[in-house]
Formats: sequence, structure tokens, C-alpha cells
Amino acid sequence: MTDRWIDETLHPNFRTSFHAARVLHEERFENQHLVLFENEIFGRMLVLDGAIQTTEKDEFIYHEMLTHVPILAHGAARRVLIIGGGDGGMLEEALKHRAVERVVMVEIDPSVIAFSKRHLASICRDAFDDPRAQIVIADGARFVAETPERFDVVIVDSTDPVGPGAVLFTEAFYRGCHRVLTPGGVLVTQNGVPFLQGDELVASVASFRRLFRDGSCYMATIPTYTGGPMAFGWASDDPTLRRIAPTTLAERFRAAALDTRYYTPEVHAAAFALPRYVADLIG
Ligand code: SAM
Repeated sequence: MTDRWIDETLHPNFRTSFHAARVLHEERFENQHLVLFENEIFGRMLVLDGAIQTTEKDEFIYHEMLTHVPILAHGAARRVLIIGGGDGGMLEEALKHRAVERVVMVEIDPSVIAFSKRHLASICRDAFDDPRAQIVIADGARFVAETPERFDVVIVDSTDPVGPGAVLFTEAFYRGCHRVLTPGGVLVTQNGVPFLQGDELVASVASFRRLFRDGSCYMATIPTYTGGPMAFGWASDDPTLRRIAPTTLAERFRAAALDTRYYTPEVHAAAFALPRYVADLIG
């Protein structure tokens, strides 16, 4: 038992601190500082460069909402691209869809994957060994600019727009995402907590609306992403996909036979009902 506290230092002038009952691993990679520790409430917590990446206790909310919403809204997704996602939680959740034939995960830092396999097995489980999964070690922005492959859903599970993650919040990157999507495909993004990171969401949605026929966001609250509900960017050339009827979602959810702890078809539909301050923010 230590008496160390680990701060999240992502936001200027606002910090949260978590008791580190045990520090399991701490390392500085060339471009990222990684800490894994155990907290009595949230279980194992992964922090990269002072930003909470994922915790055992609440990761299900984030991973379920960034996979099942686009995949069930699309309705016939076979090929999924994950940008980032080093902890393997997004991969594990996407692979629950038996109709999905291939998931490519493009992660810039192999050490996050190796590390997560070893210390965060409760999150990634055996996702990295699934024959449908392909792991590519590369910069996501470069991958979407160059790959000849096409995908029905692109999920950006990135760090925040600092360091290597910054490029994943640029219009050039979103243009690359548009390029690799099949007609009627869907792009979703980790887009921060609008109460504290509103500028990032405004910029992302403005780019989506320049590149796609439909751009918006949807929301869910993840306890350790402090500051209120988190926004997930949404972009597609098919505006109807953001408004699938709950009865249709319910049929698809039943057919997919998913075991979820946060996602339901009703929560999916309700997640797009934006609080006034967020609707005003994105215009
Ligand atoms: N759930 C977390 C959040 O909301 O901040 C994100 C989890 S995941 C650990 C973020 C991953 O994005 C990290 O493994 C990081 O290495 C990766 N990443 C950052 N920049 C990247 C880039 N340009 N291309 C690919 N992966 C990148």
C-alpha cells in the first residue's frame, strides 16, 4: 500500500487526484509517460501523459458507446477500423459483433498494447488473438491517408489532442477517414468533455460538416473522464443513420445478441438528444 496520489493534469486549472493503493507499472516511452496503478474504487487505471485513458471499473461505458452505436446504426458493418485503442478495450467490444468480419486497429505505440496485454487483461481479454483482428503499428493519420482498404465504421479511440494524438483532431485526418469509409459508412471519435474541452468538439464537428453530409455528436458520462458527459463525434454521408428508430435498433441489438452493461437501444437513441449548451456549442 502506498500513500501516493496520481493527478490527472489534462485540464489547465482543474485537476483530479486518485489514490494509488499500488503502482503496478510506470515507464517513459519516447513520446509518452505511462502509469498503471490500482485505485480502491476504479480498479486498475491507465494514465498516459497525465490523462486518464481507461479504468477497469468504468471502461465498459466508453467502449460500448463507441462501438455499438455506430455498428448498430450502420446495420451491416463488416469491416471496422480503430485508430488508437492501445488498451484493447475497443477491439474487444467491436469483436462481440459476430457479423463483423475484420477489425483493423492502428496504434502508434506498441508498448501500450504489450503493456495492456500484460496488465489489463480484464479489459482486452483475448481480443488481440481474435483471427478477425489485425494490429497495425503506425500513425493513424498516415494510415488513413495511404491505405487501399475500405471500412464501414471508423472509430477514433485516441488520446486527447496533445502529443502524438494531436494529429487525430485535424481536418486532414478526418479527410483521410472520409476517404477510407465505404458509402454510408460512419466515423465516430473520442471528442472530450464539452464542459471543459468545448473548443475541440466545435472544431471537430465543423470539420465533419465540411467533409460529410452529416456531422454532430452524441453523449455518455464516464465517471473518470471528469467534468460532465463526454461527447463522441459523429460523421456520415448518410444523415438517416443518426436517427435510426429505436424499434429498428432493438431488432438489430437482439439479432447481435450482445451482452452489455450500459448500451441499450433506448440509451443509443437518447444519446443523440443533446443538452442545450452542447447543441448551442456545435450550432
Ligand atoms: N479512452 C482513452 C481516451 O478517451 O483518452 C483513449 C485510450 S487509448 C489508450 C489511446 C491510444 O491512442 C494510445 O494507446 C495512444 O498510443 C494512441 N495514439 C495516440 N496518437 C496516435 C496516433 N497518431 N496514431 C495512432 N494511435 C495513436
